Amino acid sequence: MIASRSVRDVETVFDAHVDPGIVERSLTASTFGSMWLDMPRPQYPTLTGPTSCDLLIVGGGYTGLWAALHAAQRNPDRRIVLIEADRIGWAASGRNGGFVDASLTHGHHNGKTRWPNEIDKLDALGLQNLDDMQDEIERLRLDVEWQRTGMLSVATEPHQVDWLVDAAAQGEGRLLDRRQVRDEVASPTFLAGLHSPDTCAIVHPAKLAFELARAAADAGVHIYEHTNATRLDSGVAALRVQTAAGTITCRQVVLATNVFRSLLRRNRLYTVPVYDYVLATEPLTDAQLDRIGWRGRQGIGDCANRFHYYRLTMDNRIVWGGYDAVYHFGRNVDTGYEDRAATYRRLAAHFFITFPALDDISFSHRWAGAIDTNTRFCAHWGLARDGRVAYVNGFTGLGVAATRFAADVCLDLLDGEPTARTELEMVRDRPLPFPPEPLASIGIGATRWSLNRADHAAGRRNVLLRTLDVLGLGFDS
Ligand SMILES: Cc1cc2nc3c(=O)[nH]c(=O)nc-3n(C[C@H](O)[C@H](O)[C@H](O)COP(=O)(O)OP(=O)(O)OC[C@H]3O[C@@H](n4cnc5c(N)ncnc54)[C@H](O)[C@@H]3O)c2cc1C
Repeated sequence: MIASRSVRDVETVFDAHVDPGIVERSLTASTFGSMWLDMPRPQYPTLTGPTSCDLLIVGGGYTGLWAALHAAQRNPDRRIVLIEADRIGWAASGRNGGFVDASLTHGHHNGKTRWPNEIDKLDALGLQNLDDMQDEIERLRLDVEWQRTGMLSVATEPHQVDWLVDAAAQGEGRLLDRRQVRDEVASPTFLAGLHSPDTCAIVHPAKLAFELARAAADAGVHIYEHTNATRLDSGVAALRVQTAAGTITCRQVVLATNVFRSLLRRNRLYTVPVYDYVLATEPLTDAQLDRIGWRGRQGIGDCANRFHYYRLTMDNRIVWGGYDAVYHFGRNVDTGYEDRAATYRRLAAHFFITFPALDDISFSHRWAGAIDTNTRFCAHWGLARDGRVAYVNGFTGLGVAATRFAADVCLDLLDGEPTARTELEMVRDRPLPFPPEPLASIGIGATRWSLNRADHAAGRRNVLLRTLDVLGLGFDS
């Protein structure tokens, strides 16, 4: 099925030829839409008239749900309302890969480059957040298919092996040579691996959102779906948030709106939506699973700039995503960008290059989601309206665990007393904004092109990427 790699015309392992017939067949029966959301979903009422509260949370993804739950835990007497424009968990929180990575900084390297004096503390806080999240899920009996599998980073190109050797030397995990990594998961593309057993879990992303909503409601939070906040006004005595049903009058607000248009105009240039694409296979039979091993069920990611991530579900499907991170001119979030046939075909081809032994498998679902990318690749926070509105944005593709930490930071900021979290440089610093169009498109396009070239040139970064590195800027997913 797969032609052998030739030095002349194939530059990375993923440029190998795959029989288009196999790719087409594998996608024919796939359903468009997140596999995770393809289940009965809890429903919450729509707001029908004006209301008031102490704390209003805008956004029903993980950030808003953790903020609501923890606010109720901190102060059970507070009246807390959460409004969601659509359904709980319908956006990134119901579409992601479900990798619960401890890092708060989009990886150790990014954090170390930006906050060298703080990175040990940030890594420790990230691991503590992951452990606390696991404890909380157990304590609240959240049925979210949590599995502390660890992370397996794999090298699929020779230069990436050196990166893994360096990472192992820095204590980031145990180095596996070619034979050892293929003993774990049988792919002919794997040249080496780095196993980090403690720093990552996998979860059912949509169940995490639904179960957090249930826990928040049990703790007294009033949740409203199909309730869109259109405007935020500040009076001396109170904040007023407009919805179609009327005004919500409140003392404090957490904006947990992720990639969607911020209610604060000044925030709009700080993030751009980047579309990430995902496939899920039918459940593997025992015989199919035997062909590739993967008994440790680790989350897997390869090391390229344009990387793939993949994992098993509880019913032994493979969720396979990444590679094409697409930005569209104008910063729009638009469902019209999601069903991108060429990207799904490319992802399917890369799947069969990675797992040629599974050439009889079909994909059951294909979907996409918008990632809120900022120029530093990890969350940034702020306060507005005399300290009464807290916001966080910019998780850049690594928010499943980081949103929990981020929600606590928002609550700390609103409380107004300094905490270990709010004193962090990472929390106090702001990233540089992206430029307005057309410069944003031109800059992102040039950066994506350069990242692709680097993947095809043994990782060597061109002048543009080196300049951006020096300035602490970039583009990632
Ligand atoms: C395809 C994909 C794969 C990913 N994979 C991973 C992964 O494996 N691991 C990882 O750590 N991260 C991953 N991420 C990132 C992760 O999913 C996000 O960082 C995280 O879900 C962000 O949660 P959130 O609550 O901030 O945002 P969201 O889940 O986007 O929720 C924001 C909510 O706010 C609501 N909203 C917006 N504006 C308003 C308004 N005005 N009024 C009312 N409601 C409003 C929206 O409707 C939405 O529901 C992935 C993301 C995508 C898209």
